Amino acid sequence: MAIEELETTIKEALKELNIKDINEGTSTGMNNFSSGEILESYSPVDGKLIGKVKTTTAADYKKVMESANEAFNQFRLIPAPKRGEMVRQFGEKLRKNKEALGKLVSYEMGKSLQEGYGEVQEMIDICDFAVGLSRQLHGLTMHSERPGHRMYEQYHSLGVVGIISAFNFPVAVWAWNTALAWVCGDVCVWKPSEKTPLCAVACQNIMAEVIKENNLPEGISCLITGDYKIGELLTNDKRIPLISATGSTRMGKIVAQVVAGRFGKSLLELGGNNAIIVTPDADLEMTIIGAVFGAVGTAGQRCTTTRRLIIHESIYDKVKEALVSAYKQLRIGNPLDEKNHVGPLIDKQAVELYNEALKKVVAQGGKILVEGGVLFGEGYESGCYVKPAIAEADNSFEIVQHETFAPVLYLLKYSGTVENAIAIQNDVAQGLSSAIMTNNLREAELFLSVAGSDCGIANVNIGTSGAEIGGAFGGEKETGGGRESGSDAWKIYMRRQTNTINYGVGVALSQGIKFHL
Ligand code: NAD
Repeated sequence: MAIEELETTIKEALKELNIKDINEGTSTGMNNFSSGEILESYSPVDGKLIGKVKTTTAADYKKVMESANEAFNQFRLIPAPKRGEMVRQFGEKLRKNKEALGKLVSYEMGKSLQEGYGEVQEMIDICDFAVGLSRQLHGLTMHSERPGHRMYEQYHSLGVVGIISAFNFPVAVWAWNTALAWVCGDVCVWKPSEKTPLCAVACQNIMAEVIKENNLPEGISCLITGDYKIGELLTNDKRIPLISATGSTRMGKIVAQVVAGRFGKSLLELGGNNAIIVTPDADLEMTIIGAVFGAVGTAGQRCTTTRRLIIHESIYDKVKEALVSAYKQLRIGNPLDEKNHVGPLIDKQAVELYNEALKKVVAQGGKILVEGGVLFGEGYESGCYVKPAIAEADNSFEIVQHETFAPVLYLLKYSGTVENAIAIQNDVAQGLSSAIMTNNLREAELFLSVAGSDCGIANVNIGTSGAEIGGAFGGEKETGGGRESGSDAWKIYMRRQTNTINYGVGVALSQGIKFHL
C-alpha cells in the first residue's frame, strides 16, 4: 500500500473498528469510565496523529474495579464450556475484523502489514485453543492413604486478572492472556502500552459486541488507559490475585516486587538477549535467512529478535560476507508497503537508544560491519526509520549484555566445540529465546539437553523469533520466568484446590495419627 493511500485506508479501518470521537478523545463503547487527560497516538509510519484517547483517572479506576468484581461473581458461575463459547464468538469477530485490526496494528506500531495480520491471526489461534481448553481444565485424582477416602484436586476461577502489555505486540499479548483467563472464569483489566492505545480500544470494541450479544456483564473485559501510573494502580491492588506483565526487565523488576509484597502472583514476560549459534555443520542458506529475519524483522523490536550470532571461527568469514551482502538487499520504508522489509522504530526515543548503542559498541572495542544511521527525506518524515546495523563484538561488552530494542546485530566468534558456544550464549542475564544452526545431531541434542541452552525457548535450524501459540511461551532469568499461551500455561489463571472426602465410618487421620476423646 502506497503512502498516499494510507490516510483513507486507516480512516476506513478506524470506522470499521467502531473507533469514534477520534479528535475529542475516544474511549471504548463498553464499561466506559475513562474521563482523564487526552493521550495522543502518533504513527511511526508517517509521523501523523492517528487519534486521541481519554485516559483513566484514579476515580475512574475505582469504578472499573467495581464493575470487574461484580462481573467476576457472575462469570465464575457460568460453566467453562459456555465461557468457551463466548471466546469462540470472539474469535469469529476477530476473523471478520482481521484486515481492519491488522492495518491499525501496522500503522500504530509500525510493524509490516503481514505481521499486523499475523498478530491478529495469533489472537484467532489462541481463541481456538482456549475453546478446546474450556472442556479440559483437568485436575488429578489420587489414592488416599486412608480407607474410605477419596482425594482429588480441582481448579477454580481466580478472580480479576490485571494485564500490562508492551507496545510491540499491541493486541496479541492481551489475547494470549484474556482468551485463557476467560475460559478459566476470570475477568480481565487491561493496561495497554501508552504508545498503542488505539489498538486496545479497537480490541475492546470487538469484545463489547460479544458481551452485548450474549447479555453478559461488561466487567468481563475492562480497559484502563494511560502511562505507568495507571499500571501502578493495578499492581498495588490487593483485589487482583494475578498480574500478567509484558515489557522491559526494568518494569518487571518493579512490578514483581510490588505484587510479591502483597502476596499476589505475577506472570512476567520481559526482555530477551537472543542468540543463534552457527556451527561448522550449519546449512548456510538457512542460517542467513533465519538470522536476517530474526535480526531485522519488526525492525528488531521483538522480544525474540536475534541480537547475537555466535559463529564458529572456521566459517566466520563466510557467514560474515553472506550477511553483509544480504543486508545490502534490505529495503527500509513504509511497513504497509509489502515491498519493504524493515519499517520504523516506535518513536524518536527508541531511535536515540539505537544511536547510543552503536556509539557504545565502538567505544567498548567493537567494529561496525554494516553501518547504521537514521534515514531522512521523502517517506522517512516520522524520523523513526533506521538502518539495520551489524557490529563485530565480544560477549563481555556491557552493550552486548544489554537488550537494545532496535535492529543491531552483534557477531561473536567461538572456537573449539559447541560447548564453548553454549557457554557464550548462556552468559547473559536474560533467558528468552535461543537457536542452533547445525546438521550435526550430537550438537543439536547437546544444545537441547540440560547442559545446553538455559532459555525458555530453544530451537534447532530455525531462528529465535516467532512462536506458535500451542507451546508455552516465556523465558528464564531476567526474562521473568513466566509462561503464557499454550501447553499448561492456563494453570496460572486458576487456583488449585485439593479435596479429601471421607465416605467411610469414623474419622481416620493421616500419617496414622490416633486421636481419642
Ligand atoms: P515497557 O517496560 O516500557 O512498558 C511495558 C508496559 O509496562 C507499558 O504498558 C507501561 O506503561 C507499563 N509500565 C511501565 N512501568 C510500570 C510500572 N512501574 N508499573 C506498572 N506498569 C508499568 O516496555 P515496552 O517498551 O512497551 O516494550 C518493550 C519491552 O518489552 C522489551 O524489553 C521486550 O523484550 C519486552 N517484551 C517481552 C515480551 C515477552 O514475551 N517476553 C513480549 C513483548 C515485549
